[in-house]
Amino acid sequence: MKKIIVFLMIILLTSGCGKEKNIQSYIGRDKEFVSINYPVTNINILDDAISSYVNNVYYQFKNIDYDGIPELNISYTYKEVNEDIVNVSLQTEIVTDKTINKIKTFTYNKANDRFLTMEDLVQDLNTLDYEIKKELLEKYQDADMDYLSNVSYDYFTVDDENLTIYFNPAEIKSKHDELIYLDIPLDSLKLLIDIDKTKGNDVYLSIKKKNVDIDDKVVALTFDDGPSKYTAKILDVLKKYGASATFFLVGNKVDFYGDILRRMLNEGSEIGNHSYDHKRLTRLSKEDFQIEINKTQEAIKKLTGFTPTLFRPTYGGYTKTLKSYTDLKFVLWDVDSRDWQVKSTDKILKNILPNVKSGSIILMHDNHEYALKALDKIIVNLKNQGYKFVTVSELLELKKLRESE
Ligand code: ZN
Repeated sequence: MKKIIVFLMIILLTSGCGKEKNIQSYIGRDKEFVSINYPVTNINILDDAISSYVNNVYYQFKNIDYDGIPELNISYTYKEVNEDIVNVSLQTEIVTDKTINKIKTFTYNKANDRFLTMEDLVQDLNTLDYEIKKELLEKYQDADMDYLSNVSYDYFTVDDENLTIYFNPAEIKSKHDELIYLDIPLDSLKLLIDIDKTKGNDVYLSIKKKNVDIDDKVVALTFDDGPSKYTAKILDVLKKYGASATFFLVGNKVDFYGDILRRMLNEGSEIGNHSYDHKRLTRLSKEDFQIEINKTQEAIKKLTGFTPTLFRPTYGGYTKTLKSYTDLKFVLWDVDSRDWQVKSTDKILKNILPNVKSGSIILMHDNHEYALKALDKIIVNLKNQGYKFVTVSELLELKKLRESE
């Protein structure tokens, strides 16, 4: 019960703030595994619709009757279709003894303050209807025929190439528990709107090297679960002290933060992979795990030209088998700030400072303000003890050098 109240308060606070787009993120791990990520667009009607949908899903999740530890993942896609039209999809996965997948999409036209329907989007609806039914029957042969005769197209996303139409498995009365979707190439449709196909620039960056001697006392600060609106402020603090860190990013959140990602690398910090949707990984198939890794690798590379080599498993959970599914190096930590839990600078300092030794990897998070608030004091204290702040890759390299001495 306590958690619901906290969560609702976070949403209220965010809806009131600035004009920048950002990601609302809630990642928790007490009595359940929860990873909720959705965009705040600063279009009021759209944001209200999104947050009330998310609250509703969360409320239903909290009321699930299940003896084990349930898991909720909400991830999103965000696309500016053109200057006026924004398309957001929210994908929900609820895992108990079975898995339920749900989709919800919002397409909003700022020009007339209205949500867009398929009728607003596609001119030749009859052709579309015919194509969809044909393909649905081909792809999902167990779909209910009666349902298909009056299927409506409420859930869709648009990208540069395809109109993608989604169906919730329950609605289509299919035995599939995965989301059902069809990609319709835009070339084959008469659209009533323009699609702006301008792409982001590919910028190539590598991490700035630091001067570190083999005998130096070193420590690696790491931040999980970002990027978020706090990440830039964390970079400001790091910069102030000439320190660097390693950011283990959640892939579905990076798109709004291209500048921040490039800044991380430019200022000598490193980017690592923390999966795409922040699911509990130990229950995933090889294929699903690799999708989580690869989508994040691609998203980061697209924005920065940098390809991460490090991976931090969500909730710190992994197996030997999981490790064998990727070339990325699994990186855990030996000092845990428990920032998300203790929420106080004093307690964060107490969790970190007495436990640091040369070569330590410190776990913090940049999807909330607690680590940020404590960061100044952490850095000053460790600096006074003679520590240098390096990235995880630099730390590992240094350890290797020391071992070969
Ligand atoms: Zn995490």
